[in-house]
Amino acid sequence: MTRPDKPPLAVVSDGRGRVFEIPRMEAAAMLLDRPARPAASEWIPLPEGSCMFELPGRRPMGYDPVRRRFEFIPDFRGKPVLAAAAFIAPGYLRLYLPGRLKEPHAPRLPLFAYAPVGWKDGRFWTTGLRVDQDVRHDPAQFDPDSLRLASDRALRRFPDNRLVRHLVRNCVRQYACPNAQNFVLGRWECPVPVSPACNSACAGCISEQKGADVRSSQDRLGFTPTVREILEYAVPHLENADRPMISFGQGCEGEPLLKSGLIEKAVRSARRETDRGTIHVNTNGSDPKAVERLLQAGLDSIRVSLFSARPEFYDAYHRPNNYAFGDVTESLGRARAAGAWISLNCLVLPGFTDGPEETEALIALIQKYRVDMIQTRNLNMDPDWMLEILGGHGKTLKTAGLRKWMAAIRKAAPWIRFGYFNPPKEDWGREGDPLV
Ligand code: SF4
Repeated sequence: MTRPDKPPLAVVSDGRGRVFEIPRMEAAAMLLDRPARPAASEWIPLPEGSCMFELPGRRPMGYDPVRRRFEFIPDFRGKPVLAAAAFIAPGYLRLYLPGRLKEPHAPRLPLFAYAPVGWKDGRFWTTGLRVDQDVRHDPAQFDPDSLRLASDRALRRFPDNRLVRHLVRNCVRQYACPNAQNFVLGRWECPVPVSPACNSACAGCISEQKGADVRSSQDRLGFTPTVREILEYAVPHLENADRPMISFGQGCEGEPLLKSGLIEKAVRSARRETDRGTIHVNTNGSDPKAVERLLQAGLDSIRVSLFSARPEFYDAYHRPNNYAFGDVTESLGRARAAGAWISLNCLVLPGFTDGPEETEALIALIQKYRVDMIQTRNLNMDPDWMLEILGGHGKTLKTAGLRKWMAAIRKAAPWIRFGYFNPPKEDWGREGDPLV
């Protein structure tokens, strides 16, 4: 991976969608709300599949290497400027937040994971680390013509299937969901959303935002499918796809465990027809008994989402309804007892996740339940909003930085895999990808 010999220049926006670099000002970053100067080796060329944003109501921040200090940049050549940020492509972990100063009354930012952006050698740079070499969400894997033909074919093949209609018309054609696209292309991980409701109210939920003056990225599924509708497309996928996986618990639904009876029937029936492929659930882990029933029915792997491994911060972000953090850890215990592949979907916030107390709590969880994999997901949320939710708690004066955070976890749990995607059982035995 290309590394710059020195940090890139600060990039700002003119507020009309045009961005430019500020001469003699280094791009700066933040860990929560603490200014930070990433090492040159932490900058990478902005990966394909990334995009850029201007941050309304946020002043940009840079680092002046001559005066050796961080500076907010209110204007350039007399014209007001805004902070700019990158949204890094899937498969990458962002290492910092953008350098910014939120003005009073600034609007809440939409649900994306904002990262610093800089300019150097004729290209944009950001701070990141590729944590998964799997190409399943790489833009280069998706040819628009093949996708259109494959989607039409799926609708013709399953004419009376509401779930396939939802996956094609909403997920493939509107949300450009890579999992749904891989389903119609007959490969890898195939989504099986089943639940219109949820028993959490995560602050950064991408399928439902109640009165939070940000829009959810996609609409939640509006119906509960039948076992027939699930099996009709999921079993052929397991039987025929390359490295097949079917996954309950998608971004376009609520909590799948609320439909555990339906999933249990579907998994039992699917396993009666084929033992090929991996059957997986992405969940909040709120119902350990349901998790146990699904594992007995034939579920292979589970991924539990966590903003924090500390109950008070878990509650602050996930806002559980009728369950508690103890239920989540109980689910991990039952999955471990059943020999399932266990992933934690860590919603990473630079400056919080890599704090000493948070790291210690996460390591304890990994060791206690011998978690197999940490999927590092960039928290898709306005960092200033998350600071409000944390209310000043969780702030620590010093954090290790995410690369050291990963090294500390790996030292304490040498078996642990870092990644971004759910691995099919074919990949369980192999070494984790090098972190580059
Ligand atoms: S568990 Fe998932 S669906 Fe439920 S609120 Fe959280 S992010 Fe949204």
